[in-house]
Amino acid sequence: RHLIKHFPLAGNFWGRQRAVLRAVDDVSLAIRPGETLGLVGESGSGKSTVGNCILRLVEPDRGEIYCQGQAVHSLKGNDLRRIRRRMQMVFQDPQSSLDPRMTVQTIVGYPLKLQRLAASSTEVAERVEHILTEVGLGREHLDRYPHEFSGGQRQRIGIARALITEPAFIIFDEPTSALDVSVQAQILNLIKTLQHRHGYAYLFISHDLTVVRHISHRVAVMYLGIFVESAAKGDLFEQPAHPYTRALLASAPKPNPDIRQELAVIAGDPPSPVHLPSGCRFHPRCPEAMPICRQKAPKTKNIGGDRADKLHRVCCHLY
Ligand code: SF4
Ligand code: MG
Repeated sequence: RHLIKHFPLAGNFWGRQRAVLRAVDDVSLAIRPGETLGLVGESGSGKSTVGNCILRLVEPDRGEIYCQGQAVHSLKGNDLRRIRRRMQMVFQDPQSSLDPRMTVQTIVGYPLKLQRLAASSTEVAERVEHILTEVGLGREHLDRYPHEFSGGQRQRIGIARALITEPAFIIFDEPTSALDVSVQAQILNLIKTLQHRHGYAYLFISHDLTVVRHISHRVAVMYLGIFVESAAKGDLFEQPAHPYTRALLASAPKPNPDIRQELAVIAGDPPSPVHLPSGCRFHPRCPEAMPICRQKAPKTKNIGGDRADKLHRVCCHLY
C-alpha cells in the first residue's frame, strides 16, 4: 500500500538541489491466493523496484506491505528472515543467480538450512528430491553443477529453490526473458501448473506483453514509477483505457505463442525518472494530451465495477 522508493543520486546536479530518481512513486496492489498479477512496462519504469521493495530486498521509503495478515514492513531481524520463507523471488537470469560451485542438492536445500526449516540433513535431502520432481527434474541431477544444465533446466532449479520453503507468494522478475522461445513456453506452463496445484499468489514482472497475457489474471501497466492502468486481463487487453496502454497494444503484433513480442517503441523517448515531466508523466508522448495534462497530474479513478475482479483503474484526465 502506497509504496514509495526514491533513490538519491550522487553529486550536485547543475548546482541545484540533489537529484532524485523516483523509481516507485506511490504504488498500491493486492494479490489473492491462486492469482497472478502481471506487471508490465518498459525497462526503467520501476517494475523490479516494486518487487524488491515488497520483499524488502530494497527498503521502501514509505508504504505498508502485508503477507497473510502480517505487517512485513515493520518486521526486523529474525522475524523478517522468518517471513521470507513465505515470500520468495525467482530471478531473470538463472545463470547468475545460481552459485556455480554448488551442486543442485546444495543450492535447492540451502534455504531450508539457512532458515532452519528441516530437522535433519536426511529431511533436507528428501525435500530437495521431492521439489525437483515437482519442477520436472529427476533425482539423477542432484549431484550436478549449474553449468551442466540448459537455460531452461537452470530456471527449473531456480524455481525449486524458491518453492522449497513452501511460500505463499512468489515474485517472478522476467523469469523467461533469457530463454529461447520454445523453452519459455515450457517454463510458463510449469509456473501455471504449480499455481493450480498449490494456490500460490504471483507477481509476474515482464516487459513482454505476450508472456503477461498468457500467465496473468490481472495486469498492471507501469510508467515512470506509477501504475497508469490496472484491470482484469480481459478488460485490459480488450478495452485498454490509458493512452499508454493503447499505444503498447497497438504497437505489439497480434498474439501468437510462437513469436516473442516485446514492448514496441512508442513515439518519443521515455523521459528520465530523474527529471519527470510536469503534470501527467506521459504527456510528452501522448497523442491525446490536452492543456491540463501539462499542468496537473491526473488522479487514479475506477472506471470498472466495484467487485475486486471488476476494478479497472486508470490514471488519466480523459476519465
Ligand atoms: Fe494523455 Fe493527458 Fe491522459 Fe496523460 S492525462 S495519458 S497526457 S490524455
Ligand atoms: Mg527489471
